[in-house]
Amino acid sequence: MEVIVADNAGFCFGVKRAIKMANDTMDQAPAGVKALGPLIHNPQVVSAFQRRGLTVVSELEEVESESTVIIRSHGVGPEVKDDAVRRGLKIVDTTCPFVTKAQQYASKLIEENYKVVMIGDQNHPEVIGVVAHTGNKAIVINTVAEAEALKFIPRMGVVFQTTHSIAHVQEIVGALLKRGKEVRVFNTLCGATTSMQKTAVELAPDVEAMVIVGGRQSANTAQLAEVCRRVNPRVYQVESAAEVREDWFTGLRRIGVSAGASTPDEVIAEVVERITQIEPAGAGA
Ligand code: SF4
Repeated sequence: MEVIVADNAGFCFGVKRAIKMANDTMDQAPAGVKALGPLIHNPQVVSAFQRRGLTVVSELEEVESESTVIIRSHGVGPEVKDDAVRRGLKIVDTTCPFVTKAQQYASKLIEENYKVVMIGDQNHPEVIGVVAHTGNKAIVINTVAEAEALKFIPRMGVVFQTTHSIAHVQEIVGALLKRGKEVRVFNTLCGATTSMQKTAVELAPDVEAMVIVGGRQSANTAQLAEVCRRVNPRVYQVESAAEVREDWFTGLRRIGVSAGASTPDEVIAEVVERITQIEPAGAGA
């Protein structure tokens, strides 16, 4: 099978930075280091860190006083950092700079008396953290229907979950314009995700199927699959090579591959290798 890998597939700068900071922390103080939530949305990477002794916790209460706690690239609300300081913890903050920007814009909008609307998944840790920077006053929506259902807002400030696609937020902002008088929009989309989506969308119509590699909990992987589906309905999402099924490719010869921002190169290479080994349509005829 011919396999073409999209440019920009895999680890983004924010994830590379978070992994480096976590590795450096483990090198310096390997004992007792905790991560507040899985470091990135990739099970293989999280397991590798666990083997090095990094424990994932869901609450600061689980971290012993004076120990080190790693805040992941999705970021947290200000109250979480304040709590960590009160508990005497050492904080290693790997919040991605793109997420920090979204937090700052949301906080600035609230200070300037805008009602903040965040376009994102209300259960995603990044969104929970950004909303916390508005004192939990922001409204979170993720569909055009939710935008249309809002009451009229005279001063509206809008931010986006960093990993959303331009097409997705454009549709919703279009609906929001009808629900506000002054609508101030900050483009908080992440450049890395935007480039990754662009190259995958360019590749998708030129291949017979796309395989997207990434964690099932990864928002940017889900968005990547979604934008590809808009131009090629045959899109499969896998976490690892073991999930690739031969019958997906019956009658096909040319497959595209891209990967979410938290997918390691080795995992992408294994998936590519697995697809390459599948006999293409017409082989041996
Ligand atoms: S996907 Fe974008 S926002 Fe998320 S960690 Fe990577 S660079 Fe940062």
